[in-house]
Amino acid sequence: MSLSGWEYLHFDSIDSTNLHAKRLAAQGERRDVLIRADVQSSGRGRLGRRWESPQGTGIWMTQLFAPVDVPAKDAGGAVFLSAIAMCVALRDTTYADVMIKWPNDLVLNGKKICGMLAECGFAGDMCDWIALGTGLNLNRKALPEELIYASGVEDETGVKIDPEALIERYLIKFDSLRDVWQTRGLEPIIELMRPLSATIGRDVRISGVRAFAVDIAPGGGLAVRYPDGREETVLAGDVSVRGITDYV
Ligand code: ADP
Repeated sequence: MSLSGWEYLHFDSIDSTNLHAKRLAAQGERRDVLIRADVQSSGRGRLGRRWESPQGTGIWMTQLFAPVDVPAKDAGGAVFLSAIAMCVALRDTTYADVMIKWPNDLVLNGKKICGMLAECGFAGDMCDWIALGTGLNLNRKALPEELIYASGVEDETGVKIDPEALIERYLIKFDSLRDVWQTRGLEPIIELMRPLSATIGRDVRISGVRAFAVDIAPGGGLAVRYPDGREETVLAGDVSVRGITDYV
């Protein structure tokens, strides 16, 4: 079966859709494939953290694709394609003010409703394949109590989501962003992300240290200014960003 031109593999349950994408990549798969599961036993976030993906309460999926002409050093930008595409698809579906928390989360009403994780394979100094995982909470009823900043898009908006309709809407936007990225690089993608950013122009904590988020830098890092005036660009793989008193 296919969805918007992507080969669509829908599992009842799986260890992790990103792990499955990596297995397919290792077997030589280079078509556009979308892997989805109703439950993941070992979903993962960044820095090896666990991503809770309970049965039937979210969209747990990974896109495997082979980008064209993308240097290895630029592969991390892929996560912005899915952040923008899902943010816009959710806005179109629910009319809610979904925002992007740099680098890889979607937030609504100050709560985290979605997270993304990009993993890449390289051929020399070019990007060979990307496994781009998205975990979207539809509702939070089966999430652990201690995830106090987590919520679901249905809880926050009252809109019932049809998963496959949302995925199709998402993929159409993703594919057009991917064309832009592959032909013109990350800069036009960052332009599109700025007005959707919940991070730019705010005081944040960068792995605990207070800073002002100035902008998203050309390579996709977060340009910050510390209270002593020192400026720095922090990279997505290295840090956690939090609000001063809340999650955003
Ligand atoms: P960060 O919040 O710093 O961007 P990650 O993107 O790596 O971190 O996401 C992993 C973290 O997200 C976990 O450590 C946990 O706190 C939280 N988390 C795990 N599962 C979910 C979920 N289904 N919804 C919202 N947050 C979650």
